[in-house]
Amino acid sequence: MPARLPSNMSAPFSWLKPEPMGLYIAPADAWIDPSRAVDRALVTHGHADHARGGHGETIATPATLAIMALRYGVEHGVVPVAYGETHSLPGNVRATFVPAGHVLGSAQILLEHAGERVVITGDFKRSPDPTATPFAVTPCDLLITEATFALPVFRHPPIEQEIAKLLDTRARNPDRCVLVGAYALGKAQRVIAELRRAGYTDPIWLHGAMERTCGLYEDFDIDLGDLRPVADAPKGALIGGIVMCPPSALSDRWSRRLPDPITAMASGWMRVRQRAVQRNVELPLIISDHADWDELTCTIADVNPTETWITHGREEALLRWCELHQRKARALALVGFEDEDD
Ligand SMILES: [Zn+2]
Ligand SMILES: [Zn+2]
Repeated sequence: MPARLPSNMSAPFSWLKPEPMGLYIAPADAWIDPSRAVDRALVTHGHADHARGGHGETIATPATLAIMALRYGVEHGVVPVAYGETHSLPGNVRATFVPAGHVLGSAQILLEHAGERVVITGDFKRSPDPTATPFAVTPCDLLITEATFALPVFRHPPIEQEIAKLLDTRARNPDRCVLVGAYALGKAQRVIAELRRAGYTDPIWLHGAMERTCGLYEDFDIDLGDLRPVADAPKGALIGGIVMCPPSALSDRWSRRLPDPITAMASGWMRVRQRAVQRNVELPLIISDHADWDELTCTIADVNPTETWITHGREEALLRWCELHQRKARALALVGFEDEDD
């Protein structure tokens, strides 16, 4: 029998264990974004594939906890940690929540233990978003980065360009309405805020599934202007209007009540023509809340860690990029993450 390797507690980052259900912080007996209920969880942001209910203790930013409360009801054992604040975990582990620029409340988590600094990005982006606190570059020894759009083909256009496309389509079709499919948490509010920034002041009509998440953004002082439920629209009011709905509602019975809708969808995946065709999207809007290829590579260069772990997406291309640039890197195999929050 081969001899067992001696356990070497001083191996770099050996206190952090990538397991299929999440990242396990051994000395603190805590998990980051676990896909199952655990005793102690640190949650990067409120999207369903990261924030699950039922943990004994949930440590997250106040906005993330509010999103989780909305989704799972009032929970016990919540520990709010504001951006920039450090929370002490058992086993001499310190956790600091740093803005990730992805959605309201989204955070990177900086872990400090045994003289090592580890940053877990969670989902993130670098491009500006009026509804999320901007990403902060945080120096560290180990960077664990997401890789949702980690292929060179993914380069997101400026959002102004996509919003102009939407407004132009609306102006050219005064007898119809534009129905925009967008993820109900984050993407919808960003599109609305960017429409307002572009000077659009008309009411924006909401599918019922978006009312509560938009209300939550307003509770956190993000002004989304005049929002109204589609269900309350008087006859004819939707003609020439903009209606927001979750992607799943684009093709369901619900949309039949709308006046000759032009179907749009806001997603990073709209870069892939086949995805737009699959969903019968007439107006693909390439708007993503994830870093594109350039943002991913520039973030690794900016943070300049000694080692990079890659997860949550297309790990291979980013792994090769790291090798090409003489950067130590490995791909993790965490499960339970979806493309849904793109
Ligand atoms: Zn997300
Ligand atoms: Zn995600």
